[in-house]
Amino acid sequence: MPRFHCPTPLQTGEVIALPAGAARHVQVLRMQPGGAITLFGGAERGGEFEAKIEHMGRSEVRVLVGAHFAVEREPTRQVHLVVGVPANDRMDWLVEKATELGVASIQPVMTERSVLRLNGERADRKRAHWQAVAVAACEQCGRNQLPVVHEVLTLNAWLAAQKTNSESLRYLLSLRPETKALNTLVGTSAAATATAVTFLSGPEGGLSVAEEDAALAKGFQPVSLGNRVLRAETAGLAALALFTA
Ligand code: SAM
Repeated sequence: MPRFHCPTPLQTGEVIALPAGAARHVQVLRMQPGGAITLFGGAERGGEFEAKIEHMGRSEVRVLVGAHFAVEREPTRQVHLVVGVPANDRMDWLVEKATELGVASIQPVMTERSVLRLNGERADRKRAHWQAVAVAACEQCGRNQLPVVHEVLTLNAWLAAQKTNSESLRYLLSLRPETKALNTLVGTSAAATATAVTFLSGPEGGLSVAEEDAALAKGFQPVSLGNRVLRAETAGLAALALFTA
């Protein structure tokens, strides 16, 4: 059944007009009155609602909101990605896959070696675009909780805002030699009992030594994903998958 994100408050028995994005999507699917859909994101209580199309107008689509189901398809712990933004449309791909894998939030960061330089309005537009990518991925994969795509920051600014003693486990995805393999840590009690884990990864050119040292000084532990060099958009996903499976 097609699923649509509907950020307006939903109440069983009400007839509402779908937000423009969802209405357009219903029209593109050439759905008809009587068609059944699922709506999510409209209630503080989470979960999803079944709904039925009542009226298909040129631009407006009205639906009758049906029963609420308190169902969530979230990982058992929150996993956050702090990502040196990869260039081109690879960040779109990373946001989509990370959403499917259950990421709780994505913090795009500009680093010394970032190829893609974003700031001001362009950064805001990019963030809004990536948040829309996450919404579409939730519609597809069945998640009712949207991951948050934060505003673009420099890595230094983001690190400066972090407390050193965080309750979140913090791992720096690092290519430094002699770095402990992440997959040996998944089963440890620290990892098993952590309610939140944060991974930091670099852009195509990696993080500078100073950036890695600054992360370590904030309590990040260096971890390896093996002896192959993963692309900037692959590394965070590999770590995420290990901790949300
Ligand atoms: N030439 C860059 C360097 O030497 O750092 C390669 C950077 S890699 C394309 C992008 C990011 O992915 C790295 O900064 C690191 O965070 C992560 N990464 C890639 N392969 C990894 C691995 N095997 N273990 C841990 N992190 C990895």
